[in-house]
Amino acid sequence: MTLSVILPVCNEEPNLILLYDRLDAVTRGVGGLWEFIFIDDGSTDDSLRCLEALHAKDPRVKVISFTRNFGHQAALTAGLDVMVGDAAILMDADLQHPPELLKSLIDQWRQGFEIVHTRRQNHHFSAKDLLSSFFYRLFRCMSGIDLGVNAADFRLLDRRVVHALRQFRERSRFIRGLTGWVGFRVGTIPYFAEARHAGQTKYSWSRMVHLAIDGLVSFSTAPLYWAIYTGFILSGLGLAEIVYALITRLITHHALPGWTSLIIWISLIGGLQLVLMGVSGMYIAKIYEEVKERPLYLIRRRWGFASESESESV
Ligand code: UDP
Ligand code: MG
Repeated sequence: MTLSVILPVCNEEPNLILLYDRLDAVTRGVGGLWEFIFIDDGSTDDSLRCLEALHAKDPRVKVISFTRNFGHQAALTAGLDVMVGDAAILMDADLQHPPELLKSLIDQWRQGFEIVHTRRQNHHFSAKDLLSSFFYRLFRCMSGIDLGVNAADFRLLDRRVVHALRQFRERSRFIRGLTGWVGFRVGTIPYFAEARHAGQTKYSWSRMVHLAIDGLVSFSTAPLYWAIYTGFILSGLGLAEIVYALITRLITHHALPGWTSLIIWISLIGGLQLVLMGVSGMYIAKIYEEVKERPLYLIRRRWGFASESESESV
């Protein structure tokens, strides 16, 4: 049995040694063969040097270095592309995902679950948690895919699931959504997320909202339908307004009272048209990104892999 742990790293230097030590202790307890694939996603601190040192010390540590920052989802994709294990475990490198949980993930996998999700159980909720639980509910309602509330990118995927995911080369990557889409037998285990050991989150509010919109737009065309329905409803109301205006003009001969409603309608429809155009624009932007078929990431160098090519792209 070989197991691959996939760890995206973006400026996590103060966390790496402790992370490695905890992974080392846990995996020795579990047994089997392991590979720890660290993907350096354009770190500007000493993360890469630290990873090189870990690779020199322990050949289980493999390192991929991107040419620049391509983002968390691209880093996970690179890890899934190169892993050779019977299962992959995706986890963050900031120790928020406790390595000790690997045992329970593997137990579930051995019981026959091909995807094992983790669900955060923390009791104190931040504004970010509230926003993300609202997002998961919205995502389920719009795409029909249940990601589970408080799902994290901390999960085990059987080799078969990884093979399925490798077939998805779309640019707007939302790995959580894709793992929901592929099917397979799914298990879930609860966990208590730890505080980030050191450093700061790389998911600012705006980046989180961007990922959420990416996820919704690539998994659901519902907003386009909402746009059409809103258009229909407004046209209906507009028609009623025309009838009302005509009656006022022709029967009661009071033409002036139309002014207030006219202003309301003009501003309402003007604003709505912009919103609805924006919705279609979002989808056009996605089509534009997809047709360019650019590589998802570029690798500057790899350590610990059979073909140590200097530069390559996928
Ligand atoms: N990460 C990455 N590239 C990025 C942003 C983040 O590889 O552009 C990594 C980061 O080093 C960490 C994981 O993705 O291991 C999750 O990021 P973070 O902890 O900042 O997100 P949060 O846990 O706050 O949602
Ligand atoms: Mg984190």
